[in-house]
Amino acid sequence: MENKIRVRFAPSPTGHLHVGGARTALFNFLYARKTGGKFILRVEDTDLERSTKESEEMVLNDLRWLNLQWDEGPDIGGDYGPYRQSERLDLYKKYAYQLLEEGKAYRCFCTDEELEEMRKKAEEEKRPPHYDRRCLRLSEKEIKEKLDKGIPYTIRFKVPEKDYVLYDLVRGKVEWKSGVLGDFVILRSNGMPVYNFCVVVDDHLMEISHVIRAEEHLPNTLRQMMLYEALGWKPPKFAHVSLILGKDRSKLSKRHGATSVSQFKKEGYLPEAMTNYLALLGWNDGTDREEFTLKELIEKFSLKRVSKSPAVFDTDKLNWINSLH
Ligand code: GLU
Repeated sequence: MENKIRVRFAPSPTGHLHVGGARTALFNFLYARKTGGKFILRVEDTDLERSTKESEEMVLNDLRWLNLQWDEGPDIGGDYGPYRQSERLDLYKKYAYQLLEEGKAYRCFCTDEELEEMRKKAEEEKRPPHYDRRCLRLSEKEIKEKLDKGIPYTIRFKVPEKDYVLYDLVRGKVEWKSGVLGDFVILRSNGMPVYNFCVVVDDHLMEISHVIRAEEHLPNTLRQMMLYEALGWKPPKFAHVSLILGKDRSKLSKRHGATSVSQFKKEGYLPEAMTNYLALLGWNDGTDREEFTLKELIEKFSLKRVSKSPAVFDTDKLNWINSLH
């Protein structure tokens, strides 16, 4: 039977490849190689203000340096280019309008000022800052008048009133009660789709079987589960990997020292030591062994051995592992 395991790494090209992103890429790569599946690279560049070509170039170079080669993409002369969301905008639009036609989303003509007022009012009344659905109540005639006047609109998803449960491969059962989310925008008034919408369309069309990504995406997963349901698509399996902390147990950031792959590369660390060390940030092989080649990691990797607890980034340990390679 054909192997249908397909995973992806989906960086936003807004800066350097950080150790957290590199670990996500590595776990996806190891899972694909271990299972004989495919590892896809997708550049999420719909945030026009923050995405740059330079950043994309750096991220791709760092992945190549780490030997995390992806398996698919447009042919760029002997190598695969990445898929880019900015080249797939028509697809997202098509599905956003499909939801609109099916009544699962609606046009929202509210201005930023109106939305801000609504948010303030909710705060004063100690209610969650959810959209109050005033545009959902517009009549056909009112909508037509606004469209005729050329008033810009976003497409807003109508959040179902029900509870959601996710069986996450790392975190176990995760539950959300009805009402935790308000109706959210899927297509901006400038025609650009939002992150959560593009991800669902792409993961479905790219036949992604497992989404392995950082824990901080869990709130997005709820939105994505709702969108899968509305579009009538089967969601992939999810595995949310724990955070990486600095030695002081706060979220790893620049003040902890080098955090980007390119910094480590410049400082002379070996790629195989980096992948060895990154794998140990939340994974072990069930023994206390800590030295692995990339080939050994592929043989031994299992999502079952990915830990729920946060991992601590320790440069001394990285140095020690580097000295072994
Ligand atoms: N583009 C997102 C990020 O860089 C990742 C999205 C995902 O893995 O679903 O954080």
